[in-house]
Amino acid sequence: MTPQESREFTARLEEAALFLLKHALYRKPDDLARRFGLPVPVVRHWWRNLEDQTLTPIEPSTASTKQSKQIRKASQTLEGWEKVKRYRPECGAVLANGRRCKHSVAIRQPEGWGSGALAERCRMHGGYARREIRRKPKDDD
Ligand SMILES: [Zn+2]
Repeated sequence: MTPQESREFTARLEEAALFLLKHALYRKPDDLARRFGLPVPVVRHWWRNLEDQTLTPIEPSTASTKQSKQIRKASQTLEGWEKVKRYRPECGAVLANGRRCKHSVAIRQPEGWGSGALAERCRMHGGYARREIRRKPKDDD
């Protein structure tokens, strides 16, 4: 997952979470975070940053076909997070012995999610760094 893809993926999670919260399908951001295994501070932050927090509740049992479809899609997007968490790409940093690091890339701390939930590197190789890591061009061959 490139940094760009990580940001886009994270934006899709945010959009889906806000859809479900706005339509009152979860009582609180915390409930949604726990249901989908997302960091609570991240979901709270998404909700706080939303300009219009007016709720337009949808009752699932009386939802229209279109609404049900939207609810299903948003839930599926958020369920996808569990899978992404489990099957993260390899770090790939070049080690002293010339091999590449096989650890999974880090999941960023909540305050770093603005740059995407997944870092480019594992925790040992700067995955938690606040700034983007400059790579030497040599690193890529
Ligand atoms: Zn690594």
